[in-house]
Amino acid sequence: MVKLIFKEDNLSMKDRTFGIIKPDAVSKNLIGAVLKRIEDEGLKIVAMKMIRMTKAQAKGFYKVHEGKPFYESVTDFMSSGPCVVMVLEGDDAVKKYRAIMGATNYKEAKEGTIRHIYATDIEKNIVHGSDSRENAEFEIGYFFNALEMKGD
Ligand code: ATP
Ligand code: MG
Repeated sequence: MVKLIFKEDNLSMKDRTFGIIKPDAVSKNLIGAVLKRIEDEGLKIVAMKMIRMTKAQAKGFYKVHEGKPFYESVTDFMSSGPCVVMVLEGDDAVKKYRAIMGATNYKEAKEGTIRHIYATDIEKNIVHGSDSRENAEFEIGYFFNALEMKGD
């Protein structure tokens, strides 16, 4: 019994996160570079598609930021062109992908992170990644249905 609980705890280490290759990255032909980095770091892409969000969809996605000074601008940006949405899987996926992305402000992002290398603006910062397992599940459900999830 004790052994079984321990086994389940181990399995739960392999988790999922949600990512977006934002419209600035798509327009700069950086889809391939971002995907390569994700795969090279050992995260598995288990679902992916290119979409263009409406303003309303972008507002729903960034609802946690409603009322903040950048809310209108960031939702305009996120609905300004196509982006790639994806589900990533791996050990400690939420934390790992956030580390690969780097800080929100590219000027504060650690050297070698995606935002440090490619971002040129605090708002147009190349990628999104969920900040918690709970938010990852909400964001995955916002963009993908069960049929689109490989392995489910
Ligand atoms: P994301 O949620 O996109 O992964 P993040 O978690 O690093 O980014 P958040 O605080 O959630 O940062 O902000 C969401 C997005 O809003 C940022 O990625 C950026 O595009 C924009 N943003 C955040 N802070 C600012 C700011 N001070 N000025 C302009 N845009 C901002
Ligand atoms: Mg965020």
